[in-house]
Amino acid sequence: MTIRESLEQQEDLILCDQATFSRRTRGRPRPEPACDIRPAFQHDRDRVLHCKAFRRLKHKTQVFLAPAGDHYRTRLTHTLEVSQIGRTLARALRLNESLVEAIALAHDLGHTPFGHAGETVLARLRPGGFHHSLQSLRVVDFLEKAGQGLNLTHEVRDGILQHTKGKGDLLLAAAPLEAQVVRISDAVAYLTADADDAVRAGVLTPEDIPEAVRRTLGETHGMRIDTMVRDVVRHTLERGLEAVVMGPEVHEATMGLREFLYERVYDNPAVHGDFVKATKILEELYDYFLRRPDWFLDNLAQPIPGAEIEDLATDFIAGMTDRYALALYENLFMPQPWKVF
Ligand code: MG
Repeated sequence: MTIRESLEQQEDLILCDQATFSRRTRGRPRPEPACDIRPAFQHDRDRVLHCKAFRRLKHKTQVFLAPAGDHYRTRLTHTLEVSQIGRTLARALRLNESLVEAIALAHDLGHTPFGHAGETVLARLRPGGFHHSLQSLRVVDFLEKAGQGLNLTHEVRDGILQHTKGKGDLLLAAAPLEAQVVRISDAVAYLTADADDAVRAGVLTPEDIPEAVRRTLGETHGMRIDTMVRDVVRHTLERGLEAVVMGPEVHEATMGLREFLYERVYDNPAVHGDFVKATKILEELYDYFLRRPDWFLDNLAQPIPGAEIEDLATDFIAGMTDRYALALYENLFMPQPWKVF
């Protein structure tokens, strides 16, 4: 028996019946021999962690643009927080922790520079629109490894795709439980962290958060995560693992926190002001690439046979970090000092 096979057998002892078992994976888009020491989802987790798009998350905005302060979340630290919360839930619920971790680490790979400002501008410019979840899947399917992709299992790919976020409900009952865990972990991570970062940024004081929200979820960042995680574990078990859910009281407080953050942080002109500038930078870059397709294809684009220039420009812009977008903009549109003394 290989090490992988013995690890797969351990899942029979540890995981609950509703979990996704590594041994029963639906496989990969291109069949390949299984690793002899790692079960499929653990292998996928490693592929995501080692890919280039993952490293770029470090310089992508979460909410506050290219923050100078060292303590603000970036897309990378957000991703790690989602993974931590997801793994805690997966272990407590006896679900497949490696599958949760692989989906969590990949869930934001397709995010644009400048946070939602980037997503909004690409959605408007690209014919056919733009959504970061679809782009995350495109990153792992095509863009990584010079067009070969990471060839992840269908379970991880589905988990990435099911991961859409908006003002809609937190829950997506049709998805496998591990994908539901990541979705709820993303909400727990970003709502608690954005409140914390908004206080750090001077956009809020802790007392601005509605009293009813604080009463139910707690006064500190740590207490709020703890309340939500415990509530999800309790109510998911009470419902016999039919779906990953919060109870009504904590769910209502969480929705209250979200509404408050939209009003006071995400749509706040002080936070939003730089989004207007970021939008302009990305618009001009997109326009520049489209007006000089030969130059763009020769110098910057990752060639994908048969792809439209609009898609290549979108891939390239979506892949940028904040600082790369700023540097390229400066390079293309601003006069440069002559460097020879
Ligand atoms: Mg996220």
